Amino acid sequence: MKISEVKSTTREQRITPHTHIKGLGLNEEGRAFQLADGFVGQTSAREACGIIVDMIKSKKMAGRALLLAGAPGTGKTAIALAIAQELGSKVPFCPMVGSEVYSSEVKKTEVLMENFRRAIGLRIKETKEVYEGEVTELSPEEIENPLGGYGKTLSQVIIGLKTVKGTKQLKLDPSIYESIQKERVTVGDVIYIEANTGAVKRVGRSDAYATEFDLEAEEYVPLPKGEVHKKKEVVQDVTLNDLDIANARPQASCYLLLLTLLKPKKTEITDKLRKEINKVVNKYIDQGIAELVPGVLFIDEVHLLDIECFTYLNKALESTLSPIVIFATNRGMCQVRGTEDIFAPHGIPVDLLDRILIIRTLPYTLEDVRAIVQIRAKTEGLTLSEDALNHLAESGIRTSLRYVIQLLTPASILARINGRENITLEDIKEVDDLFYDAKSSAKVLAEYQGLYKFK
Ligand code: ATP
Repeated sequence: MKISEVKSTTREQRITPHTHIKGLGLNEEGRAFQLADGFVGQTSAREACGIIVDMIKSKKMAGRALLLAGAPGTGKTAIALAIAQELGSKVPFCPMVGSEVYSSEVKKTEVLMENFRRAIGLRIKETKEVYEGEVTELSPEEIENPLGGYGKTLSQVIIGLKTVKGTKQLKLDPSIYESIQKERVTVGDVIYIEANTGAVKRVGRSDAYATEFDLEAEEYVPLPKGEVHKKKEVVQDVTLNDLDIANARPQASCYLLLLTLLKPKKTEITDKLRKEINKVVNKYIDQGIAELVPGVLFIDEVHLLDIECFTYLNKALESTLSPIVIFATNRGMCQVRGTEDIFAPHGIPVDLLDRILIIRTLPYTLEDVRAIVQIRAKTEGLTLSEDALNHLAESGIRTSLRYVIQLLTPASILARINGRENITLEDIKEVDDLFYDAKSSAKVLAEYQGLYKFK
């Protein structure tokens, strides 16, 4: 199985608003600090989650799940992410929304299965033959296009690698140069190239290049020891879904590969393929080559799932290859989707609810909203005047936390247009006038209903 060319498929874009969250912010006894690890308030929920983390670590969560119940904008996603972070830095976190399962092309259970596999990590240790060192030269050589097309084409690449013990100059295939470009390798970086597959990994910047004026958080690494060409233990963190994708891609000629790339990938991963991958994964685990890292699958708006999905989830939770499943909802008693007359708490059938531990999230106070907005502004590198911050906090209580946090970026653009770095009350008021929060937008629509085409 070829695992070296695997790219991670974790959904980074969804986690971006929560970059300031670094953990649950609990002390040794599991008590929550009012403000720690980027978390503000919501102390009872965080303390309850601390106990869940202990249960997961002592493997007592098997077959169970967690439900975060509370109004929108009470930090349910942030709490789920913090649980994943408490479990370890390489633990996968896969967020999804209940409505994602409804697609005209893919079966509902297939979508759930894909996300389950995105939330299960595998840490693979392998000894590989590599070329490792600090890049001393990187020169692509171009020739006229042999097919007669426009422009020049890359014929080969010469790279120089240096270690404490020696240097080596290598000739690389143009395909390897693509990987070098993707990893943004430049002279002075420490990299290794796998001899068999040509996969390139940038380890960091050589510490000989460290300067005290570096603004970026660059990771400096020492010049590698030993020879350039050597055997090295390589640790890779991938998810089961990464393996599914990598192995569904047929290893055929370029022409065939192009055709398959044009087809939707989702149809390529079959049950048979997943079973084969599970078999190999289990073999790797038995041999001690790989270690399973169950991550967190977060399903927001769980009441949007239907009875078919719940039946699937009930079974999937029992599997040995199951991640930690965290549901979230803002609904109380409601109809279970896909049934005629079954009403249940949170729209979840009772047989699944029986396996679930429920934690409530409470609305924030003015001080909490103020502190959260301040943290977000700091994370985004923005400075706010005191009265601007107070105005946002008050507005956050009236509208929603999410809305006021969203105002930060347009307000910073306004400030910059006016030649200021600091966001003032006027900037905030102006963007508040320009944009509508959900509640005021609904009010305006209701007022002017007659003017709209669809009543
Ligand atoms: P929910 O899932 O409950 O609707 P969410 O976690 O998806 O909420 P919001 O609650 O809308 O997101 O949060 C908006 C922003 O505020 C996010 O950036 C989130 O990380 C942050 N946030 C929410 N609660 C807290 C908290 N207690 N401490 C720090 N940041 C928070």
